[in-house]
Amino acid sequence: MEHYSEDAVRRQHIIMADLLHAIERDEFVVYYQPLMNVTTKQITGVEALIRWQHPTLGMIPPVEFIPLAEKTGVINELGKWVLRKASEQIKSIHYEGFSDIRIMVNISPLQLQEPNFVEMVKQILEETQLDPHYLDLEITENIETQPNQNILKKIRELQSMGIQISMDDFGTGYSSLSKLRDLPFDTVKIDGLFLQNVPINKKNATIVETLVALGEKLNLRVVAEGVETKEQLNFLIDKRCQEIQGYLLSKPIPFNKLKSFLKSKIVF
Ligand code: C2E
Ligand code: CA
Ligand code: CA
Ligand code: CA
Repeated sequence: MEHYSEDAVRRQHIIMADLLHAIERDEFVVYYQPLMNVTTKQITGVEALIRWQHPTLGMIPPVEFIPLAEKTGVINELGKWVLRKASEQIKSIHYEGFSDIRIMVNISPLQLQEPNFVEMVKQILEETQLDPHYLDLEITENIETQPNQNILKKIRELQSMGIQISMDDFGTGYSSLSKLRDLPFDTVKIDGLFLQNVPINKKNATIVETLVALGEKLNLRVVAEGVETKEQLNFLIDKRCQEIQGYLLSKPIPFNKLKSFLKSKIVF
C-alpha cells in the first residue's frame, strides 16, 4: 500500500506545491451533476464537483488533490472558492428561470472545524444573494472526527439560516450510525458503492433497501448516488427511494452545459 513509484511521488510533490497558487491562477472549475426526484422526474438540484485543470498535468480529479489540500490546510480557501463559485453560478441559473434548483456543495470536515466557518458561509450568501434555502452542504466522512458540541452548534446555526445539511457517502463513513444519531441531518446520500450490481448482488440490494428504509424512518430525504442502470433505478423506485444521482441521469457537466440539460426532457 505504502509503496509509491518515483513518478507518483514526484507527481504528489508537484500537486502539493502548485495547489496554493492554483486558486489565484484560476485553474479550478466546478462541474455540476443533477439529482432527480424519481416520482416527479423533476431535477431537484445539482451537486458541485471540483476539477483542476493543471497547466502541465492536465485534468486532476478531486480524489487526488482534496486529501492533499486537507493535509496542507489549503482546503479552507479551496472550499470557500467552490462555495462562492457554485453559489454565483446557481444564482445565475435561478435568474434564467430555473428558480427551484438547489446547489449541493461538498464540505470537508476540516472546514467545519474552522472557527469562522458559519460566518464565511453567511458572507458568501450575502455576496452572491443566493437564498439559503437553495444551499445544501454535504458533509463527508473521510476523516475521523468526533461530532462534538461545537460541530452540532454550527450545524444548527446553518440550519436556522435555512441551509440543508446532508450526510455524504452514507453507509461507508467512520461511525455513520452514531453520526446519524448525534447530528441533525436533513438528507442522507447512500454511497454509490452499494449500488454496484443491484439488484443482482443480493447483499448490496439488501444493504441499499435497509439504508433507504432507515432514512425514511428517521424522516430524512434519501438520495441514492452512483445510479448507472435502469435496473438500479427500478429497484430504488420499488424500495421507495425518492431521489437519484448518477451516470444514468447525467455525468457531472461543465456550467456552460447546465442550462441546456435543465431545458431538456428526461428520457431513459
Ligand atoms: P462524492 O461527493 O461522493 O461525489 C460523487 C463522485 O462519484 C463524483 O466523483 C462523481 O463524479 C462520481 N459519480 C457520480 N455518478 C456516478 C456514477 O453513476 N458512477 C460512478 N462510478 N461514479 C459516479 P468526483 O467528481 O471525482 O469526486 C470525488 C470526490 O471528491 C467526491 O465524492 C468528494 O468527496 C470529493 N470532492 C469533489 N468536489 C469537492 C469539493 O468541492 N470539496 C470537497 N471537500 N470535496 C470534493
Ligand atoms: Ca458529495
Ligand atoms: Ca457521495
Ligand atoms: Ca465519495
